[in-house]
Order: sequence, then C-alpha cells, then structure tokens
Amino acid sequence: MRILVVEDELKVANALREGLQGERYDVVVERTGEGAFFRVTTEQFDAILLDLTLPGRDGLEILKAMRERGIKTPVLVLTARDTLQDRVLGLDTGADDYVIKPFAFAELLARIRALVRRGRAAESPRLTAADLEVNLITRKVTRGGRPIDLTVREFELLEYLLRHQGQVVSRETLARDVWKETARTTPLDNVIDVHIARLRRKLDADQPMKLIHTVRGVGFMLHEGEP
Ligand code: CA
Repeated sequence: MRILVVEDELKVANALREGLQGERYDVVVERTGEGAFFRVTTEQFDAILLDLTLPGRDGLEILKAMRERGIKTPVLVLTARDTLQDRVLGLDTGADDYVIKPFAFAELLARIRALVRRGRAAESPRLTAADLEVNLITRKVTRGGRPIDLTVREFELLEYLLRHQGQVVSRETLARDVWKETARTTPLDNVIDVHIARLRRKLDADQPMKLIHTVRGVGFMLHEGEP
C-alpha cells in the first residue's frame, strides 16, 4: 500500500512518515506543491494525504489539477483551516475526506483505511476515456460504440495507459510493467514505439479527439484533449 504525504512542515511530515511506516505503509513525502504534482502525474499511489497550506502551489490547486487530468487516487485533506468554507471548497475540488489538524493518529489511520476500501469498491471492470471503453472481463474494446480488435499486447498496453490516465508513462516504465522486461541489454524502445503506433492507428485515426499523446523526450500519455 503506497501513500503520498504532501506536507511542508518537517516535524509533521516526519511524524506521519514514521507513523505510517510503522503500520507497514510504503510512504513517499513531498514538501512542495510542485513536487507533489510531479509525483502524482508520474507515479501510482493508493492514497494521498494532502496538506492545504503549502509553499508555491497550494494543496487545492494540486488537487484541482490532478482531478482535471483524470487522476482518481483517493485524497485525504489535512488542514488546520477549520472553517466550513474551506471544507466545502476542498470537497468540491475533489477531496474524498478531511482531517482537521491537530488530529489523533488512530483517527487518521481509520480514515485512510476507509478511503482505500472505498477506492477499491469503486473499481469497475470497465475503463473509459472520452468515448473509448474497455471491458476488462470480456476484453471488448470500443470507441464511439465501434468495436476495435487488439492483440493481447496492444490490449495490455492500452489497459496500462488507461489506468495511468493523465500521467506521463515512460518507455522504461512500459518495458518494466507491460513487457515485464527488466534485464535486457538492448532497450525495447523500438518495439514499444511500434505498438504505440498501432494502437494509435486503431484508436485515434479519423478521430477528431486524439487520446494517445507523445510527450517529447519523456514518453506517452493517454488523455482526453491536449496533455
Ligand atoms: Ca502547511
């Protein structure tokens, strides 16, 4: 279980890291809004603990930008700003729950468990982006209702891109997570590029809205509209 803690106060951040590691969570701490945003767009987490008052981009900005990109990771907002307005604002922006500082650690743990449970329950066997639909049980893929035939590898690649919607996925990540190749002497870059090109031809050709985007020098992103 991987948790991102976004908290600028060193003491609080360290206490959260130690406490959560003690509960066997895998913890990553970011102390700026920019750092947090980079993490959530490039890595997978099971939950995010987000402090609202951060230097630079504040917590609500990060949350809003995340949700706009289609990143649905459950977010528990940590805030000292215990006013009703802030709560409403946070929940409207896409927070899943709130904890007011100072909080009891046991309560925080209970909220995290509930959040992760809800996240799991909400997982459907279907993945979608715009008018693209992928059924993970029947493995049927359609765009605008029109069926698309994919090879096994193309399907796995598409499923991975859909699960990381709005995030940049590098060729190295795809080689590791989709091709499961970690110990090759020659990189799989060409093979990956060929599969991406085929997916694009099947999914995006003749479509006004492209879903698969190249992020120059970094990798690829599946996203509705421009990345
Ligand atoms: Ca703070």
